[in-house]
Amino acid sequence: MSLEEINYQVYACKKCRLWRGTKHGVPGEGPANARVMFVGQNPGAEEDETGRPFVGRAGKYLTKTLAEFGIKREDVYITNIVKHTSPENRKPFTDEVAACLPYLITQIEIIKPKIIVLLGASAKETPRVEGIEYFEVIHPSAAMRFTKMREKFRGQIAELATKIQKQNSQKS
Ligand code: URA
Repeated sequence: MSLEEINYQVYACKKCRLWRGTKHGVPGEGPANARVMFVGQNPGAEEDETGRPFVGRAGKYLTKTLAEFGIKREDVYITNIVKHTSPENRKPFTDEVAACLPYLITQIEIIKPKIIVLLGASAKETPRVEGIEYFEVIHPSAAMRFTKMREKFRGQIAELATKIQKQNSQKS
């Protein structure tokens, strides 16, 4: 299985009700050999429009904050726990998460990241795989809105940058 094959499966996916009324499934994007993977909740309106993850306001804020701490978006893999947007951007239901999880599991198996960054509460349902470090951070849409959260989020991304540097210095 390759990332391209998963992409096509997601584009055609009807495993739960969420595909109805959407424009695109949003599988994720980034290099297949990324050392860092980000997992969010599910795509919003702009992601549905473009088929790309984290390209709306929260995505732009995430990309900008990562860059400020020396993390290039093009070096990381970004995806979501659920690959279709939801009505009124509601939190995905348990059965929708369960239907979609096999895609994320396969993406993790292919990419074999060293670190998985979990963006917000929904992403915490990402299955844990031995040997991968999991790092929970505030969702960028909450960080954008509240000063306290923003400060905390920036601290977490600074911590992530340190973890990545450590990983890279161990790289053979
Ligand atoms: N929020 C998410 O959790 N995922 C996206 O792709 C965009 C916004």
